[in-house]
Amino acid sequence: MNSNAEKYSQLIKARAQSFGFQSCGISKAGFLEEEARPLEAWLKNNFHGEMKYMENHFDKRLDPRLLVEGSKSVISLSYNYFPDEQISTLDNFKISKYAYAEDYHEVIKEILRDMVSGLQEEIGEFAFRVFVDSAPVLERSWARKSGIGWVGKNANLITKQNGSFYFLAEIICDLELIPDHETTDHCGTCRKCIDACPTNAIVSEKLIDGSKCISYATIELKDSIPDYFKDKMDDWMFGCDVCQDVCPWNRFSAPHHQTKFRPNESLKNFKKGEWKELTQELFSEVFRKSPVKRTKFAGLKRNIEFLEKKSDKL
Ligand code: SF4
Ligand code: SF4
Repeated sequence: MNSNAEKYSQLIKARAQSFGFQSCGISKAGFLEEEARPLEAWLKNNFHGEMKYMENHFDKRLDPRLLVEGSKSVISLSYNYFPDEQISTLDNFKISKYAYAEDYHEVIKEILRDMVSGLQEEIGEFAFRVFVDSAPVLERSWARKSGIGWVGKNANLITKQNGSFYFLAEIICDLELIPDHETTDHCGTCRKCIDACPTNAIVSEKLIDGSKCISYATIELKDSIPDYFKDKMDDWMFGCDVCQDVCPWNRFSAPHHQTKFRPNESLKNFKKGEWKELTQELFSEVFRKSPVKRTKFAGLKRNIEFLEKKSDKL
């Protein structure tokens, strides 16, 4: 074992904390043996729906050494996005809390790059890549392996201290570090998320049929929203937080301190009537820096129209 492994591991965790990450855990880079079969079965069942990109890079998804040559460690990090104020749902469509503000991919990548550059000044150059929900990395599996939390029945990573409203990110690097241990599962007999899911998308514990999930339908799906979702959308126009909102561990969610994650003013002020009038121009202005741009104007418009059809019937 590299004599610096202990020192570097402690340093990385201290820096992660000072850069605002909630948790930081380390795993040894290698083949994710226990994930291979479930991932294969999930794809075979077509639970990924139209997320065809999930079929790509199967090997790289399971082994980060194929992604970052010579990598020895996966550093998993979590970054809080729980807002201090929730956007009112009164006469408004709903949007997932993670999408209230600036795009987390960009915000967190920038923080990670600064953090790594600081680390390199202290310990010298090392090879690395940073990831934020952006490349074939099974980030939830790595976070679980590194002891950050357990995978709940709603398939989110959950921690006792913070619940589940946080982003996951990774630094995959060629530093030899001390791996952490997995934590225990604390879902127990609870099944609130399974019972609350408006579309029965949680088909069994920890297993989501993506093609039935509102998040998938409102963000990933390119075609029209299937009839299956009629009367089940519960006014969600982008994403869905139901299975996290009901989770008892989210009682412990505390507000983030990231100014870039403060809710977009337009989102706070818009009412259903204004959403219905949404134009491409307004969409580009409101969502210029937001994760909502993933669904594009046409996608959000489609979601709103689908919800409108339901409201018209009432
Ligand atoms: S995000 Fe919503 S639709 Fe998807 S599994 Fe959770 S509760 Fe169900
Ligand atoms: S709602 Fe209950 S079963 Fe679902 S993830 Fe949270 S603790 Fe686990």
